[in-house]
Amino acid sequence: MTSQYGNLIDGEWVSTPEVNVNINPSDTDDVVGRYARGGRDDAVRAIEAARRAFPAWARSVPLDRHDMLMRASAEVLARADDLGRLLAREEGKTLVEGVGEARRAGQVLAFMAGESLRIGGERIQGLAAGSDAEVTREPLGVVAVITPWNFPIAIPAWKIGAALAYGNCVVFKPAELVPGCAWALTDILHRAGVPRGVLNLVMGSGSKVGAVFAEHEDVDAMTFTGSVPTGRAIAAACVAGPTMKRMQLEMGGKNPLVVLDDADLDNAVECAVNGAFYSAGQRCTASSRLIVTAPIHDRFVNAVIQRLKSLRIGHALDPENHIGPVVDQRQLDIDLSYLDIGQRENARLAWGGDRLQRPTPGFYLQPALFTDVEPGMRIAREEIFGPVATVLKVKDYEEALAVANDTEFGLSAGICTTSLKYASHFKRNSEAGIVKVNQGTSGLDFHLPFGGRKASSYGPREQGRYAAEFYTIVKTSYTSPGQP
Ligand code: NAD
Repeated sequence: MTSQYGNLIDGEWVSTPEVNVNINPSDTDDVVGRYARGGRDDAVRAIEAARRAFPAWARSVPLDRHDMLMRASAEVLARADDLGRLLAREEGKTLVEGVGEARRAGQVLAFMAGESLRIGGERIQGLAAGSDAEVTREPLGVVAVITPWNFPIAIPAWKIGAALAYGNCVVFKPAELVPGCAWALTDILHRAGVPRGVLNLVMGSGSKVGAVFAEHEDVDAMTFTGSVPTGRAIAAACVAGPTMKRMQLEMGGKNPLVVLDDADLDNAVECAVNGAFYSAGQRCTASSRLIVTAPIHDRFVNAVIQRLKSLRIGHALDPENHIGPVVDQRQLDIDLSYLDIGQRENARLAWGGDRLQRPTPGFYLQPALFTDVEPGMRIAREEIFGPVATVLKVKDYEEALAVANDTEFGLSAGICTTSLKYASHFKRNSEAGIVKVNQGTSGLDFHLPFGGRKASSYGPREQGRYAAEFYTIVKTSYTSPGQP
């Protein structure tokens, strides 16, 4: 029997009676590892440890926090190939994407190391007679970090990196499908010198560990990325207790990519195919609604299908493949059910949707493209989170904008056009938090704020310098210096 990768609680690695046997979605015979599956008691012990560690950590010297995050960053970058391989093995992202994400995690840690030195404030003299004032940013306390499976190392790195940089303690619960990346990142930070109790990892279910984090009064803030229904449940728990927690919720999307007749067709096709189907469509920013003006519609659809025919779908670790499997049987069943729903709604399955057999047993699904889609159809409104995209034909730009905004979500939106007029109008009038011109809808830069609107997001932005808004508390102090 292989040994168990334990939880990190109060600086100690602890195993649990229950085990999470982590399976490779490219090859279900391949066991990636055996990981702890903690319960409510583990969650409480982690919160208590974080609470005890907070006063000293909040007073720690920023340069020490910087150096520690830089050591962790250096190790993540040095081991990016191995970490990317682990990521590809447990989540099913291709090796290229996995290594890219691991590198991103290392870069984000370095960025946040820099931010730990930059925490600023303001001093205002003589606002009223005899009174000076200071506005300072302080650590906010114990932060719960709850993450999804689809960016298993980058999302934890940008949340934990920011929390630690600003002097907070962390209790971290990763998604159950990807404990390996969470464990590896925690191990790296632990060995980089994060003091006992400051970072705690509790692998386990959302309904046990995650729910305790949301309910417990010693958790000051919740940063969550995941689906809208889970986000809503967490939000309800976060405000139900005696102290309402600060919340940052990043949730789903149904992101529109508008393609106008004046677009560079080749670029638009690349934006659509990459945005809708890479990572098997399992990105919150996936371009799942392709909104195309009538004159270019047929050419665009044909070109997308030609491009899809050239893609290889298979084992995530085979560098020849462009797209790996979907993450698990549950997600595969959801994708297949939407293929059925779309056809019953009388959309046309113009390409793909076959369950694929490969030499290894895995959850392989051919990318699927629906045309003749109406805005009211479920396949055009609900987040599928798989390699299933919809094409909506519209008359002109005005209709395209209206359809793009006609959604409960508001994460990202894109437009492909060579017209400055339409690009500018779209940037101003899109109801999404992230708007991209001639770049698809996915892909983000960690120097910049990230987040959505409407049902996609709640609370302050993540990433870049904007992260300080969530991870610090602003304090205003007044002083009467007295007469000399
Ligand atoms: P999920 O909502 O099922 O789970 C997310 C996390 O919440 C997991 O760790 C899970 O264990 C935990 N959880 C579940 N129930 C809980 C509860 N009652 N209390 C506390 N925690 C609980 O999401 P998922 O399937 O892991 O991820 C896919 C979703 O994440 C998609 O909707 C996708 O759009 C979204 N996502 C959003 C962003 C973004 O930045 N907006 C980024 C990536 C993924």
